[in-house]
Amino acid sequence: MFRPGLLIVISGPSGAGKGTVCRALLEHYPELVLSVSKTTRLPRAGEQDGVSYFFVSKADFEAGISAGDFLEYAIVYGEFYGTPRQGVQQLLEAGRDVLLEIDTQGARQVRENFPAGVFVFLVPPSGAELYARITGRATESEEKIRQRLSEAAAEIAQVYMYDYIVVNDVVEKARDEIAAVIRAEKCRPTRNIELIEGLSGEVMFL
Ligand code: ADP
Ligand code: 5GP
Repeated sequence: MFRPGLLIVISGPSGAGKGTVCRALLEHYPELVLSVSKTTRLPRAGEQDGVSYFFVSKADFEAGISAGDFLEYAIVYGEFYGTPRQGVQQLLEAGRDVLLEIDTQGARQVRENFPAGVFVFLVPPSGAELYARITGRATESEEKIRQRLSEAAAEIAQVYMYDYIVVNDVVEKARDEIAAVIRAEKCRPTRNIELIEGLSGEVMFL
């Protein structure tokens, strides 16, 4: 029986561990696939084009906006980030579960256009730990780190738009909680209409 894939949105403040937990999820659950976003920010050391992001110019990004290529997009920490629409649609139609790691502005757009999505907000266990993680990662300048930390409280205030909150204390625990959310979501009657209709039809003739 065919069932379209699940769209899972993960957001959270910078340094919460979204990238780390998403990587752990993808390693453990090969049925999941990550949507690779486009961004105008520069690659960090070790980031490969097409793997963590497609790194594009501002002009390219704006051309994509005009062409309606994005499922959602936003300016986050001063740079453009967006989810290419086409890839996500094709994957969902093929029955694959798709992970979007996007900010709260993007999540709001997806929620409006795609209410069947599952929205998960990832938080660090404490403010001190968020600070330790973002400074320990050492991928941004001090000024950029400040900017990211100063937006953390406003981002956390958006949590009520989400269906679930997961604390990233231990990576494997956060990974397994998100996997449990996905499993539970697949058991919703509204995601199993074909099964229910088939079964209803069969029991009528018993
Ligand atoms: P985000 O994608 O949310 O900005 P990252 O995944 O880049 O965050 O994680 C930020 C830093 O914190 C990285 O150096 C990462 O290795 C580390 N980290 C992530 N999760 C944990 C965890 N559960 N415990 C300790 N360190 C973590
Ligand atoms: P980073 O620069 O640390 O990789 O990401 C910065 C922020 O941009 C994070 O909150 C991340 O979730 C968000 N982000 C990454 N890709 C997208 C996207 O395609 N759309 C939106 N709206 N946000 C994104």
